[in-house]
Amino acid sequence: MKTVLVTGGAGYIGSHACKALKAAGYTPVTFDNLCTGWQDAVKFGPFEQGDLRDRARVDEVFDKYDPVAVMHFAALSQVGESMEKPGIYWDNNVGGSLALIESAAAHGCKNFVFSSTCATYGDQDNVVLDEDCVQRPINSYGASKRAIEDILANFEAAYGLKHVIFRYFNVAGADRDAEVGEFHQPETHLIPLILDAIAGKRDALTIFGTDYDTPDGTCIRDYVHVCDLVDAHVLGLKWLLEGKGSWVFNLGTGTGFSVREVMDQSKVATNREVPFNTGPRRAGDATKLVSGSTRAAAELGWKPLRSTLPIMIKDAWRWHQTGHYDK
Ligand code: UDP
Repeated sequence: MKTVLVTGGAGYIGSHACKALKAAGYTPVTFDNLCTGWQDAVKFGPFEQGDLRDRARVDEVFDKYDPVAVMHFAALSQVGESMEKPGIYWDNNVGGSLALIESAAAHGCKNFVFSSTCATYGDQDNVVLDEDCVQRPINSYGASKRAIEDILANFEAAYGLKHVIFRYFNVAGADRDAEVGEFHQPETHLIPLILDAIAGKRDALTIFGTDYDTPDGTCIRDYVHVCDLVDAHVLGLKWLLEGKGSWVFNLGTGTGFSVREVMDQSKVATNREVPFNTGPRRAGDATKLVSGSTRAAAELGWKPLRSTLPIMIKDAWRWHQTGHYDK
C-alpha cells in the first residue's frame, strides 16, 4: 500500500484527511507535535510524534516509511494570534515547512500537497478571488502561508518537487460518523463557538465587528465542509501521482455567508437560541472572503457534496454532542 506522510494528522483537517486517504487505499502516517492536535484523533494509520523544525526527526520518518507523497497540514492557523505573535507563525509555519520541504527533496519524495489559505489574498474590494488574484495578506498567518507557497515554487525549479496547493476558504463540519471532528483548545472558530454558546459551554458568542461594509455589518466567509475539502486532497494526490504537475486550487463554494447568517442557520439547525453579544473588530480580519474560482471542479473533478450550512452545522453539532478527545 502506498504511504503518505500527513503532517498535522492529529489535527482537525489532517485527521479527516487520514480517514479519506485510508478509504482511498493509502496508508496515512501522521507526523504531529501535538501542540494543537490530539493523539486520540490518529485512528487511521501509524503515528510519529515530532516537530517539523527538528530536521533529523523528519529525516528519520522519511527513511522509515519512504512515502510517495506528503500532505502538509501542520501549522498554527489563528488569524488573531498571528497578529499578536507573528514570530511564532514565521518560526513554526515557515521554519517547519522549510525543514519538511528540504527533507522531502533530499529523500526524492517529489509529490507535495500543501494546505494554504484564502488569507493569502488579503482584503480586496470588488476583486474576484481566483487563483490568479494577486496575494496581499493582511495578517501574519496568511503571510506565512504565502511564503511557503514561494518556497515550493523555488524547490520545484531546483529539484523538480511537484506540488498541489489548496487555498482553503473557511472549513467547517465534521466526519459523518463523528469518528473525528473539530476540537481546538482554546477554540477560536465561529461555528464551534456558536455551538458552545448554544450548549451553554460558554456564556455567549461575541460577534467581532458589526460595522463592516456588508449588508448586515458582519464579515462574510465562504464555508466548505471538511469532508469535501479532504476529498479534494485525495484528488490532488492522484493528480500528482499521475504526473499532471504543479497547480494551485481554491477550495470554496463561491457563496458567502455573514456571521449573523451563520448564527441564524445555527439556530435553525439545532432548534436552539444562540446567545450572543457584540464586540470590536478582530485584528487581521478581512471584510469578505469568497472564492471566485471553479478550477477545482473543472480540473480535478471535485464535487463538494456536503458544503451547505445546514449540513455543515448539523455534522458539527452531532460531533459536538458526542465526540471529543481526551489526549
Ligand atoms: N468570528 C466572530 N466571533 C468569534 C469568532 C469568529 O465574530 O468568536 C468571526 C470572525 O471575525 C470571522 C468569521 O467569524 O469574520 C470566521 O472566523 P473564524 O475564526 O472561524 O475563521 P477565519 O475566517 O479567521 O479563518
